[in-house]
Amino acid sequence: MRSWFAQPAKEAGAMAPVIDDDLHEGAQKKVDLSILSEPELNSLILLVDNGVRIIEPNFFKDSKAVKELKMASPSLNEHTLLTHLKSMSGKGIIDVDTTDPVLQCPQCRGQDIRIHFSCQKCGSKKVHKSMIIEHPFCGFKGTQKEFLSGEDLTCPNCGTDLTQRVDQIDSNHEEYYRVIGSFFECESCKHKMSRPEIAFTCSNCGNQFMYVDSIYEGLKKYLINDDVYDQILNRNNVKVLIVEDFEPEADVIGYLIDCYDSEKKFKVEYASTGNQAIMMFRRELHDVVILDLTLPDIYGLEVLEDMKKIKPDAHIVILTGHDDRETAVHAMKMGASEYIIKTSEAIQKIPKLIERLLSGKKGTT
Ligand SMILES: [Zn+2]
Ligand SMILES: [Zn+2]
Ligand SMILES: [Zn+2]
Repeated sequence: MRSWFAQPAKEAGAMAPVIDDDLHEGAQKKVDLSILSEPELNSLILLVDNGVRIIEPNFFKDSKAVKELKMASPSLNEHTLLTHLKSMSGKGIIDVDTTDPVLQCPQCRGQDIRIHFSCQKCGSKKVHKSMIIEHPFCGFKGTQKEFLSGEDLTCPNCGTDLTQRVDQIDSNHEEYYRVIGSFFECESCKHKMSRPEIAFTCSNCGNQFMYVDSIYEGLKKYLINDDVYDQILNRNNVKVLIVEDFEPEADVIGYLIDCYDSEKKFKVEYASTGNQAIMMFRRELHDVVILDLTLPDIYGLEVLEDMKKIKPDAHIVILTGHDDRETAVHAMKMGASEYIIKTSEAIQKIPKLIERLLSGKKGTT
């Protein structure tokens, strides 16, 4: 684990868990993203899709990166994203590095914090430190204020001008004085105290807070490593085309696939006519096509025939009404992978069917 900061890393992300890629045999090992919650994965996808690899401690002050993210996801919430980053680093999916502790505003996490003292009695910030002075020559002790005469110090007891500060009385010289203590005094209420209240003000949001409420911890810098980044970037590695002229039905199928697809590996597209479907298929060479036989322009079997010519190993699943069983069997002979009678039960099995077709296993719905 390399450190991105000059300071030694306090915390390092664990190695990301790796599982076998069961989708494509012989493919590279991949990171198991299924341990992420759906919102975490969505945050990760949002970052990767916007080209964000590194989340610096001041990330949310960088208006450009955040502006782009907010355009992509208007509901983006800084706190939520940070929570997800923390959680994902805990799961070893992303790496984290931490600086030495820095004082932070509990409200906005700002780091430009001013420290000031306030009066224990009246809360006024006009609190000044004052010294207690002794004039060893005459033995008088008093406050700095009592000794001050203009810029100089004069003993109020014996009137001697005091010019030399000493720490120990090794000589009883007349002009020597020493500081024997200090206290704080409130200008407003004249209250004297040995220790004033310590309070902080955030220069960013103006929040005033007591030191017990402040946050004093290292700033975190998150990094999405190359393996995870590439895996997210290439997550839509299964292209699915739903060819269905009845839009609500297409939406339901797309929705079911999306819900089933916890790893976001399916990229689903829609076509409402046969010609549109063939055009899109020619361009994208989808892995799986869900094909309704009754389309407004050309017959579904023609679409099937064209697609099998363009990409013989494409999995084409025929959607058919109850009366089309024979046609469906015919479609199977033409190279369709499966046919589905349009019932609620059968449609619900489509995502699982796609998974099975892709894994190359034989079976029926
Ligand atoms: Zn004196
Ligand atoms: Zn006061
Ligand atoms: Zn603040």
